[in-house]
Amino acid sequence: SRFADLGLADPLLRAISEAGYETPTPIQSQAIPLVLEGRDLLAAAQTGTGKTAGFTLPILHLLSSRSAQRSGAGRPRCLVLTPTRELAAQVHDSVLTYGRHLKLRSTAIFGGVNINPQFRTLRGQIDIVVATPGRLLDHVGQKTVDLSGVEILVLDEADRMLDMGFIPDIRRILGLLPATRQSLLFSATFSDEIRALAGGMLNDPARVEV
Ligand code: AMP
Repeated sequence: SRFADLGLADPLLRAISEAGYETPTPIQSQAIPLVLEGRDLLAAAQTGTGKTAGFTLPILHLLSSRSAQRSGAGRPRCLVLTPTRELAAQVHDSVLTYGRHLKLRSTAIFGGVNINPQFRTLRGQIDIVVATPGRLLDHVGQKTVDLSGVEILVLDEADRMLDMGFIPDIRRILGLLPATRQSLLFSATFSDEIRALAGGMLNDPARVEV
């Protein structure tokens, strides 16, 4: 398939071609149309498959095509949870690369660094927050992040989140999100615990495997 046939808006197609991508990877051909339709997604995909663009591109499309009534200072419309700060930074970079012709604001929020610059960023309007769970909950406790406007949730590398002991934090975060939302879960492997987490957070998910 071709990127032009997946239903993505022109500013995204331009960014894709500027990134030098010629054809979508299998996870991208499968996931992008489903996310654009508004489906929840349960995706089995390893790093290196192009999964990041597989969720970032359709999310940027959806956010830019909807009015931003629910966004506000520290009140994102999309939340991406990652197990590590490196992955959070990478996903945020992808959002900047693919969203370069759109006017959406993204930030990465992770632990192990000074929280004060994060406070400053979150005082402004924000559309996308890419975060590790612990530092995100610190911000929720300080009321510098408000999760009540989240329309789209992504759990990236869910199996690594489990290995790192983040599942209780994730359950707390899930409890702070609107019940009506679109949710995507990516994991390289599927244990009973990941399946249980997926069952509790996804609504009639489409399944994608690469
Ligand atoms: P990921 O699996 O999301 O970590 O992506 C792995 C690498 O593949 C990243 O460096 C991307 O920039 C690159 N990539 C993603 N999609 C494509 C594509 N359709 N064509 C070429 N490279 C890609």
